[in-house]
Amino acid sequence: MRAGAANNSCNCRRARSPAYGRQSPVAESQNGDRQPDRDCRCSTKQVAWQLRFPTRGRIVSEPEDRTPESAKAAEEQLRLLSNRLIVATKAGQIGIWDYDIATNVLVWDEQMYRLYGVAPEDFSGAYEAWESGLHPDDVASESEKLLRAIRGEEEFDTEFRIIWPADGSVRYIKANATVLRDADGQAVRVIGTNLDITEQQRAEEELRVTSNRLLLATKAGEIGIWDFDITTNELVWDEQMYRLYGVAPENFSGAYEAWESGLHPDDVANESEKLQRAIRGEEEFDTEFRIIWPADGSVRFIKANATVLRDANGQAVRMIGTNWDTTEQRRGEQALLLAKQNAEAAVRTKSQFLANMSHEIRTPMNGIMGLTELLLRSDLNEEQRHYLDLIGQSAGSLLTIINDVLDVSRIEAGKMQLTNRSFNLRDSIGDTLQTVGLRAVEKGIELAYRVPPDVPELLVGDAGRIRQILVNLVGNALKFTEQGEVVVDVQLTSRTSDRASLHFQVHDTGIGIPANKLRSIFESFTQVEGSTTRSYGGTGLGLTICRDLVELMNGRIWVESQLGQGSTFHFTVTLGVEPAAAGSLDSPPRAIAGVRALVVDDNATNRNILSEMLTGWAMAAQSAASGAEALTKLAAAKDSAEPMQLVLLDTIMPTMDGLQVARRILDEFGEQAPAVFLLSPAGSTVAPSKLRKLGPDRVLTKPVKQIELLDAITDLFGQPPLVGSEQPRELVATPNAVRAMKVLVVDDGEVNLVLAVALLEARGHSVVVARDGIEAVDLHANQAFDAILMDVQMPKLDGYGATAIIRKQEATSGHHIPIIAMTANAMAGDRELCLKAGMDDYVAKPVQSEELFAVLERYAGGNEAH
Ligand code: ADP
Repeated sequence: MRAGAANNSCNCRRARSPAYGRQSPVAESQNGDRQPDRDCRCSTKQVAWQLRFPTRGRIVSEPEDRTPESAKAAEEQLRLLSNRLIVATKAGQIGIWDYDIATNVLVWDEQMYRLYGVAPEDFSGAYEAWESGLHPDDVASESEKLLRAIRGEEEFDTEFRIIWPADGSVRYIKANATVLRDADGQAVRVIGTNLDITEQQRAEEELRVTSNRLLLATKAGEIGIWDFDITTNELVWDEQMYRLYGVAPENFSGAYEAWESGLHPDDVANESEKLQRAIRGEEEFDTEFRIIWPADGSVRFIKANATVLRDANGQAVRMIGTNWDTTEQRRGEQALLLAKQNAEAAVRTKSQFLANMSHEIRTPMNGIMGLTELLLRSDLNEEQRHYLDLIGQSAGSLLTIINDVLDVSRIEAGKMQLTNRSFNLRDSIGDTLQTVGLRAVEKGIELAYRVPPDVPELLVGDAGRIRQILVNLVGNALKFTEQGEVVVDVQLTSRTSDRASLHFQVHDTGIGIPANKLRSIFESFTQVEGSTTRSYGGTGLGLTICRDLVELMNGRIWVESQLGQGSTFHFTVTLGVEPAAAGSLDSPPRAIAGVRALVVDDNATNRNILSEMLTGWAMAAQSAASGAEALTKLAAAKDSAEPMQLVLLDTIMPTMDGLQVARRILDEFGEQAPAVFLLSPAGSTVAPSKLRKLGPDRVLTKPVKQIELLDAITDLFGQPPLVGSEQPRELVATPNAVRAMKVLVVDDGEVNLVLAVALLEARGHSVVVARDGIEAVDLHANQAFDAILMDVQMPKLDGYGATAIIRKQEATSGHHIPIIAMTANAMAGDRELCLKAGMDDYVAKPVQSEELFAVLERYAGGNEAH
């Protein structure tokens, strides 16, 4: 940074101190005043100067005729200037430099050092020291500029780059200077300022980049830009504007009216009004209008925005805005709207179709199922009974499929309504599993369920739908399992005073599900098997319905599976909790505490579940995995003087079945034999004669319902039963109705009439039939009935019409006859429609005899019952 070597023969300060440092550029006079050290004539400065400014010799010569006046004037000028400068510079972080041309001494103030990132001790104080800090590319041009300023050719007002010593980064400096001249006009000093404008430069650069981007964006987005001078009515368009309007620049007058003439005639008034409002500052100019495309007269859509520029008085002077074509977007929206309308129409058609199909299928199904049931009650040989059973089962499967399809469409249409009633979860699961128990027996699969004691007794929710989910999952588990077990597990995951969250698991040991299908099987119609290689039946709707139902209950459903090992389907639901009734499972009677019981089952899960139940009731439970083990344990217990009091005995076991074990127990223990409960799967038949001989104390249906087991145990050990426990139901007998009723059955279907008459008469009711609404109204007017079973769809006058007339007549008579819809209209909302039409109740076809009787006989109390 230092200038050339000092010449010691010179007494100027610079010569004395080569590193100029912070020293003043002016020599000090006796009285301490500063004055320029002009007298130095050492050769160093000449050499240096000429090196830098070869022309200098011609311009600047040493002042020869300096008068004291001129010196004074110069000093005064200098003083004033520096004062002003100091004030200005401090505020603006401006650095000040002072260059003595004659001596080549450059003096910096503190800010200058900061601006250049140089420490004073590293600064030689020569012109070259400054130069060495510049960006190499700027050195030549800047020294040229300085030279021109010294020659008086132009102002020194420039910007250049410096290299920041600490990290080599580039900074921008703005520099100004004043050249001081002597009386002869000879330049003697240059005093100037430096200002760091790096930030400003950066901001400008950013602005440049941003506006470039904006330009690109408007280009890419095909956005046209317009500029309207409100005062001169001059409208300027960019190229894109011409393209947007399909106008050649030479055909465009450049006036506001030129734009207006391109608009769709119906939009002119509106748009110019909007423009006026924007100019008046009343609202933003943000609009969309139509234009007429000059080439073919077609209509296009343009979206427009603008900013209004105002003068100091708030007067709008200009508007700058954008335009872009939204025709395609508009078309897309219209196409979308059309597609939506079409889709909605399709859904309506589909729903209507489903409703029709449902009705058309249910009507004959009603005949098939009902007549099958009737026939089954008649005298039949084994073969006939078997065939009829198969007909009944097939009809049942068909009905399940129809119901599934209807459920899916109901859920899709958002019409699935959940009920909210209190129910006993344990009972509900027990009943559900007993209905599918037969299938498990047929396949030799163990079916069990476990509901731990912390699960509340009475819950509030839609038991029917939970049951439907379980039937689906357990049905699938049985379908896809050839051996092993299917277990339903329920866990309480959280509980507040009135809500309980439950986690259900249905576990099987079946074929499993490949990992890549674990999600998709919940989609409609999706099955693991390819459609051409199917060995299992099914529609692929079951899991979809399960998922939708679970989600309706704000729960979640998922599956875990191992191919060849089995699957576990999980689902969660949150239900209401009802305070438990007295004598519930939560508080079993004390008398059974300590009763010693042995659980005998070859299936470990079953053994565990039963043992858990017993220990839950404070009983002393042991278990055995076979008849032989059971007999050993019984003998051992007897020897230890703590004989077993109760044996829970599975009927179906390898080697020695339950009956054989029971026989052996009787034989070996005689009078002291413990009580025996046989656990027999639903539908498996144990000949009554055999039972009588063996005399088990109870036969319970597997999977055993907890309450039934508890009731049976309590019964045996000296306590009254808790809740009326049911003995296995009789299949054949139809008990007579509580009270015989006179019923009017209205239906146009011959099969349905035959069926209804047969069912009702077998039940002990008397029946009159009508084949359409008019007949029904007539008969009702002339005879007294206890109730009317009314079909809905009928010729001449339908069920709604007939009901309306009857209700009108009743308005004067004051009577009210119960009218029960009996219809194949089983879609969502059909029940409501019937009730709204004035009917009292509703039974869907195919009619299940028990349901029909249950509903009908509710009204057995008499005409005014309702
Ligand atoms: P469907 O059983 O009527 O075909 P689902 O929706 O109930 O319809 O089931 C869809 C598919 O998921 C089944 O076809 C089967 O491939 C698979 N799946 C369901 N449950 C099981 C299970 N427990 N084990 C193995 N595969 C199963």
